[in-house]
Amino acid sequence: MSQPFLISASILSADFAHLGEQITALEEAGADRVHVDVMDGHFVPNITMGPFIIETCRRITSLPLDVHLMIEKPERYLEAFAKAGASLLSVHVETCPHLYRTLQEIHQLGCQSGVVLNPGTPAAAIQEVIPLVDLVLVMTVNPGFVGQVFLPQMMVKIAQVRRMLDEVNTKALLEVDGGINAATLPQAYQAGARVFITAQAIFKHPKGIQAGIDELRACLLLGKS
Ligand code: ZN
Repeated sequence: MSQPFLISASILSADFAHLGEQITALEEAGADRVHVDVMDGHFVPNITMGPFIIETCRRITSLPLDVHLMIEKPERYLEAFAKAGASLLSVHVETCPHLYRTLQEIHQLGCQSGVVLNPGTPAAAIQEVIPLVDLVLVMTVNPGFVGQVFLPQMMVKIAQVRRMLDEVNTKALLEVDGGINAATLPQAYQAGARVFITAQAIFKHPKGIQAGIDELRACLLLGKS
């Protein structure tokens, strides 16, 4: 059965002592993508992981690796992440003075391209690059830390981006990241998002990874009852 939306599981909340088992569990539980949050301590206050972890994930799973670069000057590292096995590389509008070129380079490296908007960046900032992207990611928290509360004010922007994508009839996906759980997913879906990044709702679910994914899969149906 085709799913009405995709789940991209962020390993930021995984137990790194058991990363292999956790990623295998994700795959068995039906996650669609593995999301890797790369932070540099400059663009965002936190520091997380680099190409080495992507390489590790690539050896463990055949799921697409959705790599979110929250780093300054991402163009310096695109090749390293592509070689490590990234399927999709997303860069922030705020970090790319030559956004068009950076997105072209991502395609030249054989990856899908994504562009990301921080909460304070207007949807219009991506207008010119829509034909170049496979995915638009709207941040629903300020990037940097896991476990933050979803910003409902971002619903307006998700709906704006949805319209922008529909107007040009692109197949580019609309993804959201930050504070997504079974309660917030239906709101973002309603606004037009179709790929949902979740970390804690999966890895910190009291009944485990499978229960976390099942709860997310079921939340739209529950909302209608
Ligand atoms: Zn992310």
